[in-house]
This record gives sequence, structure tokens and C-alpha cells, in this order.
Amino acid sequence: MSSISINQTSRLSQRVQEIPPSGIRRFFDLASTMENVISLGVGEPDYVTPWKVREASISSLERGFTSYSANAGVIELRKAISDYMQDRFSVSYDPETEVLVTVGASEAIDIGMRAILNPGDEVIIVEPTFVSYRSLVSMAGGVPVPVRTGVENQFKVTAEQIKEAITPRTKALMICFPNNPTGSTMTKEELKELSALANEHNLLVFSDEIYAELSYDEEHCSIAELDGMKDRTILISGFSKAFAMTGWRLGFVLAPPDILAAMLKIHQYTLMCAPTMAQYGAIEALENGMEDVEQMRNSYRQRRNYVVKSFAEIGLPCHSPGGAFYAFPSVGSTGFTSEEFAERLLLEERVAVVPGHVFGEGGEGYIRCSYATSMDHLKEAMTRLDRFLTKYK
Ligand code: PMP
Repeated sequence: MSSISINQTSRLSQRVQEIPPSGIRRFFDLASTMENVISLGVGEPDYVTPWKVREASISSLERGFTSYSANAGVIELRKAISDYMQDRFSVSYDPETEVLVTVGASEAIDIGMRAILNPGDEVIIVEPTFVSYRSLVSMAGGVPVPVRTGVENQFKVTAEQIKEAITPRTKALMICFPNNPTGSTMTKEELKELSALANEHNLLVFSDEIYAELSYDEEHCSIAELDGMKDRTILISGFSKAFAMTGWRLGFVLAPPDILAAMLKIHQYTLMCAPTMAQYGAIEALENGMEDVEQMRNSYRQRRNYVVKSFAEIGLPCHSPGGAFYAFPSVGSTGFTSEEFAERLLLEERVAVVPGHVFGEGGEGYIRCSYATSMDHLKEAMTRLDRFLTKYK
């Protein structure tokens, strides 16, 4: 018997076995077995993709555009991405050599890591952050090196913190602003400090800017626009969040030609191209969808204001997130770990949130609450949270 189980174990790659399963999944699975749950758990818009975008995609199907596209993506889309990045964020990219359309930002992160990492190369990851980075670095043979941010600095990272984590093996820095799960943003002046350090230490920078359009207090600044940065930045973005297109699985990456060519090589072998009909919808999104984005942004801003105020009223300290659609209140004063808090809240009051520790260093003691849900749901969630907190005072 024992030899059978040994064989079964060895069927799987050691690298994959060492990666922990996503911490978010467990809560979704539990919540899905329960009724009357208000979910602040999922990280996706509560909107349906704007109709004109869906229509453009349907029209592409009607016209028979059902084949593979160019590996790097439909050229009209790459041009639209390039124009959009120039207009909105003042970064200029050549659609032929510096733009790649991917299957979600997720694919862009994965192939970006695989394109640059050699075994043992270190990637500094600013945490708490999106759950995929650590695992994708590990699966690419690299070593994740977390750097912790905290509420004392509004979950921003400083150059000194990163400097302390740099070793001779450091190859890249991974940042995500506006941030999932903290909603934290960084100003141009603050990013300049990081760019100076990246230039000094010859670091590549992965900048996941998928929430750039969801910045509520100030204009988003892309680190790629700062001096010396375009040639060392792998800028990741996509359509999921701003355009409410999570199910379309469409993202993009902008990078220097040598890195982009290496990513394209992996993309060609693993995916060929992103879905063609989705790409035609995305052209419409970029060319005619910015008003829809603005409406959604305004609505998220209102909800952000409401949840931050409500958390203060019910006694959960919460910094005001400048972007994305997450609030990250501290639950430390309750005496529960974030996992205990999230589990009890779900079982006792049927509100689903994500415990902060799943987002890495600095996440313990917090919960992530997505406010991309209706005001009615948010109000009911706050009533339930208030009742829950009163019980354990
Ligand atoms: N980056 C961040 C920071 C995210 O929050 C997410 C989705 N939750 C992604 C990337 C993945 O996006 P996509 O749907 O484009 O793969």
C-alpha cells in the first residue's frame, strides 16, 4: 500500500505541491453552501460589461472573425492600447514590439516571471498584495522576498524598505498600486523614490496597474513614465476591473522589446492568442467606453466613502483607500485572528469577507471587504457587522 501512495505523490511536481492552495477559495466554498450570505469577498465589479462592448464582440462573431488572431493580439487592439496608455498615463509604447494582449493580467504576470527568472533569482514583493504573485514567482523557479507595508504608512512602500531587501540575487521588484487588498495608492513623488532605487540597483519592475482607472482621489501615475523606467518596467494591466470584463479573460502587458519578445515566445506555445471575439470587444471598450468607466468609478467612489465612514462608526479602524474597490479594516482590537474573525462573521452573521493573512506579510489582523456590491447590500453588511462586533465587545 505504501508504495502506491508514494507513487501517487511522485506523480505531481514538487514545485506545485509546495505551493499552498489559494486562501480565498476556502471561504467561497463555505459561503456557497449557505443561504442569505452577503458577499464582500469577491474581487470583481458588480456591473455587467457595457452593452456597446458586448455588441462589438457579438458583431465580430457575426462577421465571422472566429479564427486565431495574431499571437501578440489583433493589431487594432494593440494600437488602441498604445493610444490609451499615451492619452491616459503619458507612457508611449510601440504596438508592434512593446504591446502583448494576454489572457487576463494573470497570464501577463505568469509569463513575465517565466520570461525573466533563472532558478534562485529573487523577486521583492510588496505585501499585503494580490495572492498570485508569490506562487507565480515560485512556479517560475524564482524566490519571493516579501516586504511588509503597514497602516502606519497607509500601506505604501518606501525606498528604504526595499533597499533592505535587496541582495545580489535580486532581479525584480513587484508592486501593485492601486493595491489589492489595501486600496492604497502611491503618488508620482513617492514612486520617484522607488524608480531612483530601481535605476541605481538595475532592477526590473513589475507594475500591476490593473486598478489604474479606479483611482478616486488623484490621477494615477504609472511608474513606467518616470526617468529611466520604461526600459526596466513590465507594466501589467487589463480589462477585468475598469471595464467590468472579468469573464472575458483579457489583459495586456507593455514591456521593453527584448522582454516582450521572450514573453511572446511563451505565449505562442501555451496560448497562441487571447480570445479573438474578446479582443474586438476590447477595442470598443478603449475607443468608446471611457464614459462608462467614469460612471462606474464615480459609483465606486461613493461606496468607498460610505464604507469608510461606516467602519469608523461601528468601531473598526480603516484607512481610506485611494483606489481599487477594497476596504481593509483592522480587526485586531477584537482579539480574533483575521481567519477567526472571517469565519465567525460568516457563520454567525452570514457576511463573507477575506481574512487579511492570505495576502501575505502585514495582512494578519485585517479583513478585505470588497465594496463592489450594491448600496443595499453594503448597508445590510454594516448592520450585521455592527451586531457582530457588539456581541464580542
Ligand atoms: N492583478 C490584480 C491586482 C488583481 O486584483 C487581479 C484580479 N483579482 C488580477 C491581477 C487578475 O486579473 P485578470 O482578471 O485580468 O486576470
